[in-house]
Amino acid sequence: MILIKTAATLRLYLSDQKKKGLKIGFIPTMGALHEGHISLIKHALDNRDIPVCSIFINPTQFNDEKDFRQYPVTINQDILLLEKAGCEALFLPSVDEIYPTGFENETHYELGYLGSILEGAYRPGHFQGVCQVMEKLLKIVMPDRLYLGQKDFQQCKIIALLIKQMSLQERIKVEICPTMREPDGLAMSSRNRRINPEVRKNANGIFLALSHLKNHLKPGPLEPLLNEASHILVQKGFEIDYLTIADAGNLEILTEFQEGRSLIALTAATFDEVRLIDNMLLNQD
Ligand code: AMP
Repeated sequence: MILIKTAATLRLYLSDQKKKGLKIGFIPTMGALHEGHISLIKHALDNRDIPVCSIFINPTQFNDEKDFRQYPVTINQDILLLEKAGCEALFLPSVDEIYPTGFENETHYELGYLGSILEGAYRPGHFQGVCQVMEKLLKIVMPDRLYLGQKDFQQCKIIALLIKQMSLQERIKVEICPTMREPDGLAMSSRNRRINPEVRKNANGIFLALSHLKNHLKPGPLEPLLNEASHILVQKGFEIDYLTIADAGNLEILTEFQEGRSLIALTAATFDEVRLIDNMLLNQD
């Protein structure tokens, strides 16, 4: 694996690959890699793409300074994992490389309804930061395929919207890959490292609550079912930001199950001072 720190060098490397007729699969991350991230590399390899991963803890997408400071950094281990997985190139830029003129005068994106709900409501500015860094990374890498995790479902929708706003939807295909989970169902996340091992066994409450929604979904109002699932989360020690059911296509929040619509349950909840997010498609595989 080749490690590249500047956009100029990465562009040169990528143009060589593209001249050979190879397709680029891009996997943007913030590091502290786990099997969830590695699964994205594997999807790229399955599609015969050249996997190019980036690790960049993007300061502008953290609405909480403490969360930013506490974000885990495990770069040596990350490099070993990527190498073992068959990643071809790792882009490891500095903050100055991505934001050479600082954070002022950054683009503001019109994200409409999608940007205003769920994570957009609870983490003001978060999706602005995501779009700022993604636009820069996409312009540098210009991949054939972009590999994203379903774990961050709303983020997938926002990035697809960004790609449309950049008029790149014909050039860059977005591949949404399934969420990788621990044996007890907890979605793998870099933030899981911050959960105290003594209480870790209760962290699967988030998976149990989502599974309850999936297993008991029936026609009619959704509120009673959501109350049951909330109860599971609270009993396991979670403090809920939101637990909701939405249309998986446009993320319209639903109060009633309507046949023929594809539904997704989404939640954000804090456990042991660690804010976790997860989601589950309810009536499709
Ligand atoms: P992050 O490093 O958290 O910014 O995540 C980088 C990419 O990995 C994003 O596309 C995430 O959705 C994806 N990802 C994170 N956790 C998982 C997981 N458990 N399973 C699959 N993909 C994931």
